[in-house]
Amino acid sequence: MRLGEVRFALVHHGACPYTGANTRFHYRIRSSGETETRASESERVGRAHCIEIVLEGDFSEQRPGDAQLEGLRAVLLALKQRCPRIAIGGHRQVRGEQTTCPGRRFPLRELLAWSRSGLLAERDAALEADVERQYRPPH
Ligand SMILES: [Zn+2]
Repeated sequence: MRLGEVRFALVHHGACPYTGANTRFHYRIRSSGETETRASESERVGRAHCIEIVLEGDFSEQRPGDAQLEGLRAVLLALKQRCPRIAIGGHRQVRGEQTTCPGRRFPLRELLAWSRSGLLAERDAALEADVERQYRPPH
């Protein structure tokens, strides 16, 4: 899967019914916010055109902590920089898959709102900083 073919970043929780021993993900976000890279983005590990991200924990009854959400946002922001057209979604939004994943208490609506506004602003700020680092206008 070339980066240009990536369309979605799909968020799961640890209690995802599809999280079996053979299920693979690209990224795993621990409760501490620490991120493990489990597969290269060029590799298809689940659905076509998807970067699969799993958050450690079960969010059926409790909300993920701030550190973990921050870790997730950092991964999504980096992805957005590499794949500007990427859309972010929760597993349960995938048509035909009967699941509550990433859990009823996962703040999906909040994350989607952020991805539509804050993420773009953060991406632009990051790009601007990048450009400024590489380009110094003559005096
Ligand atoms: Zn899932």
